[in-house]
Amino acid sequence: MANKDKVFDVIMAISDIIEEKKLYLTQLDAAIGDGDHGLNMAKGFGAAREKLESGSFQTPSDILKAVGMALISKVGGAAGPLYGTAFLNASKVVAGKEEIGLADFTAMLESALDGVKSRGKAVRGEKTMVDALEPALDALKAALDEGTAPEEALNRAVKAAEEGVAFTKTIRATKGRASYLGDRSIGHEDPGAMSSYVILKTIAETCSR
Ligand code: ADP
Ligand code: MG
Ligand code: MG
Repeated sequence: MANKDKVFDVIMAISDIIEEKKLYLTQLDAAIGDGDHGLNMAKGFGAAREKLESGSFQTPSDILKAVGMALISKVGGAAGPLYGTAFLNASKVVAGKEEIGLADFTAMLESALDGVKSRGKAVRGEKTMVDALEPALDALKAALDEGTAPEEALNRAVKAAEEGVAFTKTIRATKGRASYLGDRSIGHEDPGAMSSYVILKTIAETCSR
């Protein structure tokens, strides 16, 4: 599925798409938060890009670790440290490996999600990125059990994340800044769930290439 070069390409592709969606993510956050999610994400992945382009990395794990550190150190908002933890956890799962397969990726996403949930003290249904990531993980686990091919498994995970984003529109936020709005957060998609979906979609597309 992905070696070191592919993982590098995935991060570059994420950095590109986040830059492209910067305004959109920021507009989503303006509706229920403080209007900086796109800016925060672009700053973090811009820093990750610079770090990767200026250094040399031996394994997928080394790349993911550098990304996690960049996100944690360069992003002020809530999402930076949460995504940073996610990438650091994913990095640890594949320490020393040259090649990431579907089972590895599933384990990486599981550990990434665990990190987000424990650091953010969030569970599913609170209108956060967890609402995109957890359905994606469930879909991946099911696909893995069925022996589904990696490309199809990733597509199912992306679809589950997309449905998770749609679900966030129907619920009230109980974590993060959007929770200050109470019921007025209903009717808006969660920006972090949207960025998680965009990231998963980019991973799937880049790995299928
Ligand atoms: P900030 O809210 O500090 O401005 P961002 O706008 O970059 O940070 O990120 C907001 C997103 O972070 C939310 O849309 C939500 O998905 C996610 N988020 C915020 N708090 C939590 C939390 N406690 N647990 C999980 N995700 C969270
Ligand atoms: Mg914000
Ligand atoms: Mg902010």
